[in-house]
Amino acid sequence: MDRLNFRLPEWSRMAWVSEEAKFVWEPRMKKIQIMWEDVAKESVYHGLRSSILTTVGPEKLVDCVKEAAAKGFVAVPLSQQGIHSEYRSRSVNAIIGEQWEYRIAITKSELQNEWITAWNIMDNDKIGELLGFPKCCRTFFTKYWSDEQFLDTSWPMYEESEQNAEGPPECNVLLRWAGLRFVQHLPHSFQCEESVKIGRQFAQLGNVLGYHDEVAWLYEMLSWPVEWSALHGIGEIYTPIFKMSVSTDATPIKYIIQRKGITYPEEGASGNKFPWVNKRNMLKKQQDSRLWAENGFGTLEKMNSYHELVISAITKKMGQEGGYIMDAGCGNGLLLEKICNGYPNLIPYGIEVGKDAAESAKRRLVNGFIQWGNIFTEMSWDLAEKYKFVIFMPGRLFEVEEQLRLECVNRLKRKTDTLIIYIYEIGKLALQDLFEKSGLSADWKIEEIYESSDALCAAFRCKLII
Ligand SMILES: [Zn+2]
Repeated sequence: MDRLNFRLPEWSRMAWVSEEAKFVWEPRMKKIQIMWEDVAKESVYHGLRSSILTTVGPEKLVDCVKEAAAKGFVAVPLSQQGIHSEYRSRSVNAIIGEQWEYRIAITKSELQNEWITAWNIMDNDKIGELLGFPKCCRTFFTKYWSDEQFLDTSWPMYEESEQNAEGPPECNVLLRWAGLRFVQHLPHSFQCEESVKIGRQFAQLGNVLGYHDEVAWLYEMLSWPVEWSALHGIGEIYTPIFKMSVSTDATPIKYIIQRKGITYPEEGASGNKFPWVNKRNMLKKQQDSRLWAENGFGTLEKMNSYHELVISAITKKMGQEGGYIMDAGCGNGLLLEKICNGYPNLIPYGIEVGKDAAESAKRRLVNGFIQWGNIFTEMSWDLAEKYKFVIFMPGRLFEVEEQLRLECVNRLKRKTDTLIIYIYEIGKLALQDLFEKSGLSADWKIEEIYESSDALCAAFRCKLII
């Protein structure tokens, strides 16, 4: 990057693309901010890392020390700094007579001295290590931020990523000026695996602490298209819902990073210039893809080929009599609809854990019985005494603890005589193995196997009946 040797004072300003976008997303961003502060603090108490760095006003110092002590940690005041409300890449020294706050490390008592030493000599690598930042990103930080004195590491990060800004949302820190990020450090690339791990741990902790909506919003925002650019020390960040002007390194020419992203908000602006898109076309595409995405498929073709397998299994087993058919994990009910179109004397039943998908299934199968719920609860299965067929994915049994797995296995035996199971990307041998491990093999035997290039469907008959 070609840089000029001047630096503008730091600022960051935001403008919304519309009142609607502001109305929906501004309160969400405030809530994400609250989550972040809580998650950052709790990360040390939940053992994700040994230390955190925070700031507290002088009036809150005593409480801070007490709280840390109560949790078995120590609060180490390191310095005083001036107060600013916006994102800053570098902190500002406290000025006498103006408001200031303490820079504090919350850490394990045995690390107290290491903190004080590292802080005194501003050993950024050591400080990063104490904060649990990955080695690859610390090396990057030392090179660009400390040695080369970059104000904004976005471009070096892009270079380290071989000019590819796509990648997991956990590594996307292009919206950090708006407080939107999953990691506290500056990742060395848009694909840094260590940063992904840390970001996921933070997201998980957010969920544990009850911030489900906030975590989901943050994932969504970091998956939008975004453009970052720099010219003459002015950085511009464009997202579907807002643009920002921030200070960055002064350059004689314009540098641009574009990250295409994978989702677009309903409130996003419509336009032809990146990152904006023609919304009507885009929403139509999103709606179309919902048809297979709600059923857990990446493409329409995959879903159809798998549906054909299941339908051929049902056709073989159908016979003259009608009855009830249960799809345990029915998605938006499309498979049930296809089956029951061919056999009007089958009554569809479905259980689906995704709320939107369950609602779609209810609309699709007005004569059926769809429950929004979990396949591992007895209640979800209660609507019928016995089903002629149960469509089931055995892999699900490994997602729960032993007790629930056994209950589910017993319930299947009670509820049907014909089990239609399906699996992707697995051969016949592995199927047998999976069947034994899941505990299903005690009661069931394979009657027929149907295969496509990447999926397998099998019909099972209850051993006790035969
Ligand atoms: Zn890294």
